Amino acid sequence: MQRTPTSASVWKEPSEELLQHEIHEECGVFGIYTGPGCFAAQDIFNGLMALQHRGQESAGISVSDTEGSRGNICTRKGMGLVSEVFGPAELAGLRGNIGVGHVRYSTTGASVPENAQPIAMNYMKGSLALVHNGNIINAEAVKQEQLLRGQAHYTTSDSEVLAYEIISERVKTHAVEEAVFHVLKKMRGGYACIVMSPRKLIGVRDPLGIKPLVLGEREGAYILASESAAVQAVGGRLIRDVRPGEIVVITADGIRTDTRMCGLQQAHCVFEYIYFARSDSVIDGIEVHDARFRAGQALGKSAPAEADIVAGVPDSGLIAAEGFSRETGIPFVLAFHKNSYIGRSFIKPTEEERKLAVWRKLSVLKSAVAGKRVVLIDDSIVRGTTMRQIIAMLREAGAREVHVRISSPPFLHPCFYGTDVPSSRQLIAAEHNSEEICRDIGADSLSYLKVEDFKGMVGDLPLCRACFDGIYPV
Ligand code: AMP
Repeated sequence: MQRTPTSASVWKEPSEELLQHEIHEECGVFGIYTGPGCFAAQDIFNGLMALQHRGQESAGISVSDTEGSRGNICTRKGMGLVSEVFGPAELAGLRGNIGVGHVRYSTTGASVPENAQPIAMNYMKGSLALVHNGNIINAEAVKQEQLLRGQAHYTTSDSEVLAYEIISERVKTHAVEEAVFHVLKKMRGGYACIVMSPRKLIGVRDPLGIKPLVLGEREGAYILASESAAVQAVGGRLIRDVRPGEIVVITADGIRTDTRMCGLQQAHCVFEYIYFARSDSVIDGIEVHDARFRAGQALGKSAPAEADIVAGVPDSGLIAAEGFSRETGIPFVLAFHKNSYIGRSFIKPTEEERKLAVWRKLSVLKSAVAGKRVVLIDDSIVRGTTMRQIIAMLREAGAREVHVRISSPPFLHPCFYGTDVPSSRQLIAAEHNSEEICRDIGADSLSYLKVEDFKGMVGDLPLCRACFDGIYPV
């Protein structure tokens, strides 16, 4: 297929290594360094609650007391939501003033307790805990090297490969951050990690900045988190994004930064803006809410419709629907009630289960749509299940016409950097053209955002948009 690379030196089609890489993980990471005697676990709990949308499968916290003489790291983790894994008793058992936390979501198949994080390890020079969001695409090759060196480990994930590599490097270096640097220099992929030794927190972001990581502060404390919303949730203030490739070291003496891995090339994940991040987060200087609103406006400009109302699919389509309404002048209407206590339909294993989950989660407000020509906005169509279902529900409630507008381009390619995009076989747009999809989901018309419109959404921010254009930056 003909492609138009935006930067010839970096962009390329997926390698064999990428194509064999099947893990899908979406995660949130949080770390805090507070003063002596403070209780970090409560802050980490609050931070993870603010990142719960990034993963609902497992949660975990590791803490350490920097004043303690023994340098122990104490870890607790389990399957389920943050509030299910941590009650007051579990938190009370986590004594320490620095720590890291993790929420994880993987697609079905890898949903096992062994994959819960933090990964905590003891080794010759001490102990460490690691939390990781993203995918290391050459983890398998690094694991083979570990085996060749006689350091055989029955590792189950790329995060564990990473942790083993750091402790084996640590023996040769004078400081843990040096080991982190040497290891991550040879790792490829999209990642945001926080490594914790008993008296240090080290945050690192992949050299292209695919995955987000921010630095925040609160009186007497420094914070690292996947999103700024988590910094706010602990009463903190966003300082800045961790730079792509930067290693930030937090100790009792303050912050140091290592920019040896920083390069000129960047490729920030566009899907964070489209769907994944919380709308009140600011990522790489752009408010997620505003990006979504502008995507809706761009859609209104490029694909207006003759209609009476604009409705968004809760929650992911609401902001873009407002943008569409602002652009076209068609009134924005709340057309659905969403049951917020039902989990995500997206990760159910079968089509039938996904359908049932949509029914349980959403119902139509009949009086809002009966007899109306509706523009229906959502952030994405992946397999088509959600849209098909919702359009049927709108028609049953009396909607006269349903014009679907999607605030992202068609999903054509899988993601290898840690976002759950199924294989091309399951992506409806990879198998069918727009007219066929329109017919299949039962819409009167269907239009998507154009890849060119990303510029209107996020300005000149360099993006990884491989799931839409198949051009993989790593
Ligand atoms: P589908 O029903 O398979 O077409 O999925 C589309 C719906 O899932 C949309 O409402 C999206 O907001 C949501 N969605 C898209 N991508 C993801 C993802 N990676 N994880 C969870 N939900 C998603």
